[in-house]
Formats: sequence, C-alpha cells, structure tokens
Amino acid sequence: MKEFLTNNSQQTQELAQKVAQLVRRGMVLTLNGDLGAGKTTFTQGFARALGVTGRVKSPTFNIMNTYMAGETPIYHFDAYTLETMGAENQGFEDFIGTDGITLIEWPQYMVDILPNDRIDFNFQRTNEDDQRQITIHGIGQLANFEDAL
Ligand code: ADP
Ligand code: MG
Repeated sequence: MKEFLTNNSQQTQELAQKVAQLVRRGMVLTLNGDLGAGKTTFTQGFARALGVTGRVKSPTFNIMNTYMAGETPIYHFDAYTLETMGAENQGFEDFIGTDGITLIEWPQYMVDILPNDRIDFNFQRTNEDDQRQITIHGIGQLANFEDAL
C-alpha cells in the first residue's frame, strides 16, 4: 500500500498520469471514496494521459462510459445507482478486465463481479479544503503494483 497527498485537482491528475503510464490492457482499477473525494477528477487525468480528448464525466445514470485511448477502450463505471438494483446479469462482466482498461467508481455496489486481480484506490478528504489522501493497493496478481510509482 502506498499513500499520497494531493493539494489540488491538478496534483490528483498528475498522479493519475503516473498511474496511467503503468497500466496495461485488462487491468481493473477500483476507485473508492465519498462523493466529491476526487474519483472522477482522477479518471479525467487518467484518460487524458492516455490520449482521450473528449469530455470525461461520471456515468452516474448510464453506469458505464467507454472512451477510446487509441486502440484501447477505457471502461469507466459509476456503480452508485446499482446500490438498489444489483450488478449481476447486466452484462458488465463482458467488459470488466477484458480487452480494455476499467475504472470503477463505487465498486462496493458491484462486489460480486469484481476480479480478484485489481488495484484498489481510496480517496479521502483531509482537514484541508483541497487536499486529498489517496491510497493505492494492488491485490492478487497486481499485488505491489504501487511499488513502481
Ligand atoms: P467524485 O467522483 O469522487 O465524486 P469529483 O472528482 O467529481 O469526485 O469531484 C471532486 C471535487 O473536488 C472537484 O470539484 C474538484 O475540483 C475538487 N477538488 C479539490 N481538491 C481536489 C484534489 N486534491 N483532488 C481532486 N479533486 C479535488
Ligand atoms: Mg464521480
């Protein structure tokens, strides 16, 4: 597990850029944290670092957005609205961990279909307004992913 402190959105996006450089097709990143913690901000920096030019926003109502990073799809989930519906049998498994790179906001609402090999992120506000604590922890085959950061 590795811990970072960022003091504004840009620093969070710079961290996302570093992570993006280490991520390969098929990897799954879970983005944990409360509303406003910085999960989407991170995803924006991540996607931009991989060459996505269009707008990146939380797919709150459609649950999944796809962006193309060259030939590589980025699957961006926001599972918040699955809290009451459940994630099984909706076909999300066909995307997660397959040909693209997957980022999942509110992964606690899709636990049944999360892969065992993944990188868990935790975003937390601190006592300072624009500061966030971000912890990164690879598990399964991706254990120690964060050591390269
Ligand atoms: P989430 O997707 O976790 O709900 P967002 O990324 O949509 O959160 O929103 C985070 C908000 O906090 C944005 O308005 C962003 O500008 C602001 N912010 C302030 N400081 C930071 C920081 N250090 N990292 C990320 N976002 C920050
Ligand atoms: Mg969000």
